[in-house]
Amino acid sequence: MLNRATVGIIGAGTMGTGIALAASAGGHRVVLHDAFPAARTRASEAIAAHFDRQCARSGMTGEEARRQSALIELASDMDAFAGCGIVIEAVSEEETLKAAILSEVEGLLAEDAILATNTSSLSITRLAQPLRRPARFLGMHFFNPAQVMPLVEVVSGHRTSPEVRDAVCALARRWGKVPVQCRSAPGFIVNKVARPYYGEAWRLLEQKAASAATIDLILEEAGGFRMGPFTLMDLIGHDVNLSVTRSLFAQTSFDPRYRPSLLQQDLVDAGLLGRKSGHGIYDHSGGAPERAAEELGPGPTPRRVAIGRLSPRLAPLADLIAQAGLDIETHPSLHDALEVDGTLVAPSDGRTAAELTAALGRPIALFDLALDYREAGRIVVTASADAPRAVAAGLFQRLGKAVTPVADVPGMVVTRTLAMIANEAAELVSHAVADVEDIDHALRLGASYPVGPLEWTDSVGTDFVLAVIGNLSDFYREDRYRPAPLLRAMSAARKRFYQDAE
Ligand code: NAD
Repeated sequence: MLNRATVGIIGAGTMGTGIALAASAGGHRVVLHDAFPAARTRASEAIAAHFDRQCARSGMTGEEARRQSALIELASDMDAFAGCGIVIEAVSEEETLKAAILSEVEGLLAEDAILATNTSSLSITRLAQPLRRPARFLGMHFFNPAQVMPLVEVVSGHRTSPEVRDAVCALARRWGKVPVQCRSAPGFIVNKVARPYYGEAWRLLEQKAASAATIDLILEEAGGFRMGPFTLMDLIGHDVNLSVTRSLFAQTSFDPRYRPSLLQQDLVDAGLLGRKSGHGIYDHSGGAPERAAEELGPGPTPRRVAIGRLSPRLAPLADLIAQAGLDIETHPSLHDALEVDGTLVAPSDGRTAAELTAALGRPIALFDLALDYREAGRIVVTASADAPRAVAAGLFQRLGKAVTPVADVPGMVVTRTLAMIANEAAELVSHAVADVEDIDHALRLGASYPVGPLEWTDSVGTDFVLAVIGNLSDFYREDRYRPAPLLRAMSAARKRFYQDAE
């Protein structure tokens, strides 16, 4: 439908310019409009700089650069959209502005043209409401930089036609993108499922579980995430990140899951917006900030380790312990726990060490989840007393890991963060916002997650995710920590996300 279409773009800012480059790389003629001359000048400079970089670094020939850049026409007037097969709106995130522009452009287009918006947070269904052809309107949510990031969330409003959605997915594929389909729902896929990555980090900081740098390095080195949450928010800008959270909070009738952090509000009020203002969580005034995680000094050398039955997520630990040449005993009564020279050392399941020590009548040290215990450079431990914590440190140090202590908070750092992300992803499946594969693709490609949250849920088991969230809920007594009903149903029926999707 859109094979040879001219692509119109309104708003020649960061996103509009990136989308124009993606469309021209796909061989399409592009009309890029901005109402402001200064914005058009900036866009034309950014386009020239892009092609210079492509020639210098990516081996693009001068001729190819000239051919692609000649495809982009900067227009001062919206009348230039008249012959476009699709127009993508990318002006500032203001609903009244977008609504006015969309109605005006619709009046300039042929009956069969498609109108799209790159909004990151507004309802597609509501933006469609005043339009004359709502079936031909949808969201095309690119990620920044749009000429590089492969993911496009193709968002259908209540009245978007499936043919229009499919044509836009095919167009995105021709541009080398990976489209995922979703229904218009607050935050679409990525912005919704990623919320706990930020939200739990703020919670941990508020509870003084660890410093921001420690939390960042734990999520990078044990969680396998490309960038810790505070480093990432400093990069995105706290004003932008907070406004997405605020918008989601309001659009979900103030669901406590998305309650914004007062600490982040405080940063924004102080003008500490992150890298762009020179200071956020970190001081960026002298270039890239130094980050260091807290670390425990050497613990006692372990002599004897008893192991019982271990869940698959913990199996690599048994291999590491064997490879370290430690004396291993099998202890059938230990389930998912180790006994190191008489001290219990167990993975976090969302209960605190103090709770478990009281329940078991003996001290226990807890360790946090690692995405892959073999790869993780850092293991996180906690306990309600120094002695068991030192024993756990001694064990993991012997396995070649840096050992970081955190305060005795429920679910530690990686465990609660991953469980909450998985829970959020399960909610999207149960509300039919998107399907299982698209959710996993979206988080891997749009947020660089090391593994899709539903794939991860299958690998650790829904029972584990339910246990962690249930224990967080018991501890905090807040509606924020409520397990997705779908996870309960799947657990009862012994179902997995990927088997069910087959
Ligand atoms: P931006 O401020 O860089 O660009 C917006 C552009 O719109 C500006 O050049 C401005 O001159 C132009 N504009 C404003 N009013 C106009 C009008 N009446 N007619 C024509 N042009 C007008 O913003 P951006 O970051 O490119 O964001 C644009 C949209 O993309 C927003 O809806 C935003 O939520 C969404 N988005 C942004 C990102 C991101 O990371 N920046 C990612 C995904 C989606």
